[in-house]
Amino acid sequence: MRATALSLCLLLGTAVPTAKALSPSLRPVRFGGKPYINLQTWGKTWGFGIHPSRKALRLQSKWTRIEFKGENRLVRFNGTKLWLSFPVLPHRDRLYATKLDLEKTLEPLLKPPLLPSNKGVRLVVLDPGHGGKDPGSVVGKEAEKKHTLLLAFELKKILLQRGFRVLMTRTRDETVSLTKRTEIARLAKADLYVSLHYNSLGRRTSAVKGVEVYVMTPSGAPSTNSRSNGGTARVYPGNRHDAWNVLLGYFLQRNLVSQLKAEDRGLRRARFVVLRNARMPAALVEGGFMSAPDEARKIYTASYRRKIAAAIADGITAYRKRLENR
Ligand SMILES: [Zn+2]
Repeated sequence: MRATALSLCLLLGTAVPTAKALSPSLRPVRFGGKPYINLQTWGKTWGFGIHPSRKALRLQSKWTRIEFKGENRLVRFNGTKLWLSFPVLPHRDRLYATKLDLEKTLEPLLKPPLLPSNKGVRLVVLDPGHGGKDPGSVVGKEAEKKHTLLLAFELKKILLQRGFRVLMTRTRDETVSLTKRTEIARLAKADLYVSLHYNSLGRRTSAVKGVEVYVMTPSGAPSTNSRSNGGTARVYPGNRHDAWNVLLGYFLQRNLVSQLKAEDRGLRRARFVVLRNARMPAALVEGGFMSAPDEARKIYTASYRRKIAAAIADGITAYRKRLENR
């Protein structure tokens, strides 16, 4: 049965844009030299109901809920956490977000553009982080490289069942350079690149846990963990797919958090080598913290690994569907 646009949007939790939204005409104001947009005006343009409260704003449509907080970079999009590049600014009883954040983070989720190649999403490259001489995080006897490879095999199985083609950047414990990994994907003309990792912090931070997904930082913006207020204006190959990167990252984060019932550390931005070199939409998944003993115990089990793989596969499938039914 062919799903209607409406039921599909309910299923995917994304908005059906109104005709008005196709040509938003919003005049930015400048704060600190950066163009900002009044979020109430922006919300109306996209057909949202506007629900302001003290230092916060909720935009609500039938399908989508976006929650902003003043002086905060964290936004909730249908409940999933997304990190903006710059804090939302309160000014004269209104909240403002940078034009860059609206264009690079929220608008691609509301109305994803057509894929440039328009050839769909068929070949997925899975990149099990680390390997060989590079163990990644090591906690006790456990090395990240082993668990990312096991996860990749599990994920490959599910993706094949769903009709994707799959290529892995390594299939055993070997050293593969970061540049080689994205080169493998480029030569294979992959449609998607997903790098698999587990997090780790020192022993003193063993309480920190949860899942996070990274996508390429937009040009001119700081990365999520950066303390600076600016970012390089350089445009990397990975920036060519900014809109699809964020769409992919959102669906991955949303499925991981809901299916694993893990702590939501949000969709983040980084200029990791594999993200900036990727010639196709790309994301990097941090499936949990090996430095958090309770989360680590789960990560090492086959049953939890299957759950992580299923959540990532669902994220990729949702991404494909969203682009096919846009
Ligand atoms: Zn790693």
